[in-house]
Amino acid sequence: MEISINPVPKSDRRPKPRNESNLGFGKIYSDHMFTMEWTADEGWRNPTIGPYEPLQLEPSILVFHYGQTIFEGLKAYRTSSGSINLFRTDKNAERFNISARRLDMPEVPPEIMLKAIHGLIELDREWVPSSSGTSLYIRPFMIATEPYLGLKSSSRYLFLIITGPVGAYYPEGFNPVKIQVCEQYSRAGPGGLGAVKTAANYAASLLAEKEAIENGFTQVLWLDACERKYLEEVGAMNIFFKIGGKLITPPTSGTTLAGITRDSVIRLMQDWGLPVEERRITIDEVTAAHAGGKLDEVFGAGTAAVISPVGLLHYQNKSYALGNGKAGELAQRLFDELIGIQYGIKPDPFNWITTLKFGAAEPIPSASTG
Ligand SMILES: *Cc1c(COP(=O)(O)O)cnc(C)c1O
Repeated sequence: MEISINPVPKSDRRPKPRNESNLGFGKIYSDHMFTMEWTADEGWRNPTIGPYEPLQLEPSILVFHYGQTIFEGLKAYRTSSGSINLFRTDKNAERFNISARRLDMPEVPPEIMLKAIHGLIELDREWVPSSSGTSLYIRPFMIATEPYLGLKSSSRYLFLIITGPVGAYYPEGFNPVKIQVCEQYSRAGPGGLGAVKTAANYAASLLAEKEAIENGFTQVLWLDACERKYLEEVGAMNIFFKIGGKLITPPTSGTTLAGITRDSVIRLMQDWGLPVEERRITIDEVTAAHAGGKLDEVFGAGTAAVISPVGLLHYQNKSYALGNGKAGELAQRLFDELIGIQYGIKPDPFNWITTLKFGAAEPIPSASTG
């Protein structure tokens, strides 16, 4: 399928952010976006890279009412030589389609998604920031666009990709976070949506996150919805516990998201010959390990922060401090290795990196991005 390209005239392009030290997250968008429509009769059609601009949508479209929508989140990294790296993007395309199936939405052929990301970055390559730790965040998503108020799966969809420069997560080095184990709300139940990147999961988490922040914590650590004792994940990150020298992470079956960072951590641990287990783990095991002086480290793993060390866990009115306000050794090593690979500083033995190659000039209108 040929992607038609409708570039914004050079004179109309928005200025790139001058100060890369306060980019933040999700505040600034590049000049272009990708759109593609799907109908039950015709399948995917009109793949287009055009200006980033407001959408015209009828108020009755299904996504507004019943939430049929999915997304992905990935990054493009500027290397010291000026080239641009993508990290395990095939996994994002694969996971997007797992989400699509669960929400009864059409799958997006991975080669189209990857070609669209490539074409978009080619056109907006100047938006990929270059300061240490910054990146271009890439957000593919799909919404149900059939105007209809009856409850059913849509017969029309819109797939989009928007991008924008985002800041370094730790401009002043690691900052261990304080986490509240959530005792009142659940994020996902068995057979539900916990394993897919769909809006409902995040809508369900907002009140708990707000209350945790009001109580002085950064994020919520979720327990399983049935027994409220097994640990699941934290915010939009998977969670790891290092207990007695062994790294443990909950399994991804059903209620937790199969993070690509999580998978990369497991692969690195195996490669290093260090013990790592995917198994159910209870909050009681963690607090008992803390009491016994065996809770070495706790950290989250996800694309946004890469590795996020936990400095304090709060559960049932008790606080469990970790690491004297500093990141653990293993968290630091995994962080250094992952960003080293992503930014092309370290070797890439797993073939996780795609270095983008562009033509010298911008693609001409309507040309294929090949
Ligand atoms: C996206 C996400 C993650 C992390 O996945 P990555 O592929 O590592 O970015 C973990 N948990 C939830 C709930 C998420 O939405």
